[in-house]
Amino acid sequence: MEVLKFGGTSVANATAISRVLDIVDAARARGKVVLVCSAISGCTDELIALGALAPADREKAGKALLDRHNCIVNRLFTGKERKDVSQVVLDTYKDLMEAAPEDYQTFGELFSTRIIAAKLRCDGVNALWLDSRDLIRIDGEVVDEEGSFRRIRKAVADHPEVEVFVVPGFIASDSTGHVRTLGRGGSDYTASLFAAALRADDLQIWTDVPGIMTTNPKDVRSARTIPQISYDAAFMLAACGAKVLYAPSVEPARKAGLAMRILDTFHPELPGTVVGAFPRREKGCWVGIACKKYEEDSRLCLVADGPLDESVPGELRSRLERANIVLRGIEFGSPDHIVISLSHGDEIEALRTCHYICFETDDSVDVFLAGEGKVGQALLDIIRKTDNRINVRLIARHECEDEAFFREMFASASGKAVFVDCTDSETIYKWYVPVLEAGINVVSSNRRALSVPYAEFALMKRTARRMRRFLRYETTVGAALPILDSINMSANSADEILSIEAVVSCTLNYILTSGLPFADALRKAQEIGLTEKDPSMDLGGKDAVRKLLILAREAGIPLEEADVQIEPVDGSAVQPGQRFVASIEKDPAAPKGYLAAIRLRTVGPDDPAWNVRGTDNMISIRSAFHPSPLIIQGAGEGAKMAASSVLNDILR
Ligand code: ASP
Ligand code: MG
Repeated sequence: MEVLKFGGTSVANATAISRVLDIVDAARARGKVVLVCSAISGCTDELIALGALAPADREKAGKALLDRHNCIVNRLFTGKERKDVSQVVLDTYKDLMEAAPEDYQTFGELFSTRIIAAKLRCDGVNALWLDSRDLIRIDGEVVDEEGSFRRIRKAVADHPEVEVFVVPGFIASDSTGHVRTLGRGGSDYTASLFAAALRADDLQIWTDVPGIMTTNPKDVRSARTIPQISYDAAFMLAACGAKVLYAPSVEPARKAGLAMRILDTFHPELPGTVVGAFPRREKGCWVGIACKKYEEDSRLCLVADGPLDESVPGELRSRLERANIVLRGIEFGSPDHIVISLSHGDEIEALRTCHYICFETDDSVDVFLAGEGKVGQALLDIIRKTDNRINVRLIARHECEDEAFFREMFASASGKAVFVDCTDSETIYKWYVPVLEAGINVVSSNRRALSVPYAEFALMKRTARRMRRFLRYETTVGAALPILDSINMSANSADEILSIEAVVSCTLNYILTSGLPFADALRKAQEIGLTEKDPSMDLGGKDAVRKLLILAREAGIPLEEADVQIEPVDGSAVQPGQRFVASIEKDPAAPKGYLAAIRLRTVGPDDPAWNVRGTDNMISIRSAFHPSPLIIQGAGEGAKMAASSVLNDILR
């Protein structure tokens, strides 16, 4: 059993309702569904306004509401069904006009859910509308949970054949049977009560933002989704003004041990927020900021996931005052949250500044490193020596891709987290997509992971874009040289790459320019650790192919290994003046529009490759807008340099 709740914007019109029904369809494939809905957006406010009008004016304003619902009915239904559902809407409207004006606000959910239940039935779904007024009872000011749960369980058990129970949120009744509300925003509470009563497998609150965010994205554009939040912190944010969740809805879920998922109806693929039993940290980190207006002041509530240092209010005060924000007060609400009081009108400015202080200036990054080879070790070394401004936190280090490492990372990553792959693994790339989907950035120096078949590569890229996370791998070609970025610049500026020529094999370059006989040079290259573990990877061009694939793909060409013509190096035939060049060249006749090749090439003194010596790398990019090539040349080898490039990818 899953309980899904949709808010007012999610059911605002026929298009939105269709989206809801798609999500319900997917849930239905997994089992039974309780579908709780709010009134269509703005409806409750309009009903309250309607109740406040003089009786003579109610009819006209009421008609406008009736029209909005009829408009939805006309879009969703045709023929006889349209007539039937219009009648249901009209009957509800008649009841509304006969109700006491203070009860008008309880009608919005009746309209919306009756339409939606009818639509489900019309689509052949076994759907039943349940009247929450008969099920949820309020005694005085509190919900009688025991009785309400009993009635909810019975109502559901009485109808084993039903696939989807459709439930109006927000409304209940008192002990005399008179209608009551659960408070503004109360549909969340309805959903939570149903989920707790039915011990649901999943409780999903579908809304119009991608989860609980660090603050209201309408006020602060840089607000971001909080992946996981404890019941306490979620309650605190909700109680202090975060409209995304109705505070009382947290308690039934907590008591029943149910996680709540806050999801975005308009972007159902996003992971949203999980509210659950996440432990407090020993030392609190900021989680989110809520803002609420009171009669005498506006208050910001800054919530952390553990106790904050005594010094925090003082520091915050001085930073805000330096930003010319006048505080009326600042104090601990509890060890885990701070309340700032402001004059009306000052709150948005203060909110933006606080958000900046809490979430945007923190340059600490959680780094999860896989692979402690040369580059990994050099990276750890640099990190240890870096000053606190670049505060990189190492949470876990692992040799290779074991599942436990990733699980631990998923469970503990918060804020800015980066998974760093410094392995040589052929298979670790399979983790990139789940890592990105968990909201964690990826930096890689592992060129095997990026030269996988194009479809796999494209999936990683797409996932990063969708999740708004980065996937950076500048180090995979030419170590620290800014090669991929430069290609990217051309590829993203409507410029067209005409050719790329790359001397990117340190081993071969070293051998070809050493002046030693081939075999001796090769031995030396091996000794100084230049070659791949298996030197035939270098000589056979395998390593160069990987680099070329990465280069080409960066230029937007979906190159595969099979598209590259490779002429392996034959040690006995090497001539002076030769360079091992990987190239792609525009050729409309070629299958992907480019010819790709890797071979020894004899170069003359005017060729940019002529000057490349030792372990230097060189890449020359010709593009439509740049008549003479862009040439990047420099050291292409060295663990320290590679590590610094990895660090740059992590921090930039
Ligand atoms: N329709 C009600 C309100 O606007 C309840 C809800 O949407 O959760 O407050
Ligand atoms: Mg709401």
